Amino acid sequence: MLDGLGDLPVDEFGGKTPLEAADTPTFDNLAKSGITGLMHTISPGIIPGSDTAHLALFGYDPRKVYTGRGPFEAAGIGLNAHSGDIALRANFATINNGIIVDRRAGRIRERTHEIAALINDREIEGVKILFKEGTEHRGALLLRGEDLSPEISGNDPRKEGLLPEKIDAAIPEGEFTAQVLRKLVNQLSKDLPRLDINQERKAMGLPPANYILFRGAGVVPTLLPFTQIHGVDTATCVAGGGFYKGIARLAGMKVIESITGVTGGTNTNLSAKKDTAFSALDDNDFVFLHIKGADNLGHDGDFIGKKKFIERIDDAFSDLIELENIVISITGDHSTPCSIKDHSSDPTPVLISFNGIRCDEVSKFGERPVSRGGLGHIIGTDLSRLVMSFAGRSKKFGA
Ligand code: ZN
Ligand code: ZN
Repeated sequence: MLDGLGDLPVDEFGGKTPLEAADTPTFDNLAKSGITGLMHTISPGIIPGSDTAHLALFGYDPRKVYTGRGPFEAAGIGLNAHSGDIALRANFATINNGIIVDRRAGRIRERTHEIAALINDREIEGVKILFKEGTEHRGALLLRGEDLSPEISGNDPRKEGLLPEKIDAAIPEGEFTAQVLRKLVNQLSKDLPRLDINQERKAMGLPPANYILFRGAGVVPTLLPFTQIHGVDTATCVAGGGFYKGIARLAGMKVIESITGVTGGTNTNLSAKKDTAFSALDDNDFVFLHIKGADNLGHDGDFIGKKKFIERIDDAFSDLIELENIVISITGDHSTPCSIKDHSSDPTPVLISFNGIRCDEVSKFGERPVSRGGLGHIIGTDLSRLVMSFAGRSKKFGA
């Protein structure tokens, strides 16, 4: 899974996309020995987020199971989210005389685990409070208990120079949850300023993390395990970014925790990732491998960087072609065109390679070449089913 792989024509590449312009002998050989096409991850015209896209790719209907970003963020930073928990995204922020003066507390990096430890493991009105820090000023909160509802607003005004917003219930059933969260914010606005690290930050002239902003409440969904949906015994995820590990974990996959040099960015150690994925194939029916960099470069509008990064991946995975008796699929979760610097609804190229597959005449892996491929246009929820079917794991529908 090459995050954000798809793109649009780039003038500097003579109208080719970064993938079309890239020198990719490995992918091209796999395209030659396989079947190719284009994929609308959610459905035509819908711009996928990485979370909804991955849900679709794992075979879930995102419209049914996606409950907001909070639960996926919480699982992604390693909070052990249970189905039914209410999850919210959090920012460490700076407040002064009641006004939010910095929504990111100066993009605080140091000792955020001390702030998280202060918040974590409280209990308010019988509701368990779990909190973990993410990168920089980010964190996630889980509320675990009875009678909770995700139908609440957060306190994040999304802009600096404003008062925090009032946490409110959107429906009467949300009132208890809103009350618990209001109490937590009250407690924290007294406890956070007293933390050593905040005293020190103030002394150094840095914005203290003396307030916390919550947004994006969602209930942690119950997902049928990936293995159960697809008729495999074991499935493992190899990823750098915590966000992707979190989605895989919610889908019940095993997640390989830390791999040397694997960062979830463009500086990631691709060969370590490949070695890990290849050895995971020894004792797993299914291995999901996620590489993030191309999406970052698309968001940066760096088409040269994106082309070079795709070439680096192709090079690092040159021995993919030697794998025997394994169905290989390469695709993206959505397009991240460098000209848009964000995700778009343009379909993303997909290939599936396996011995004996009814291959098409496509010999270059790229957006336009694969548009003539034998898979035609598929949607995201088709992909894992197709892969399992080529692997002989599908059951007959009907007699
Ligand atoms: Zn993505
Ligand atoms: Zn993205």
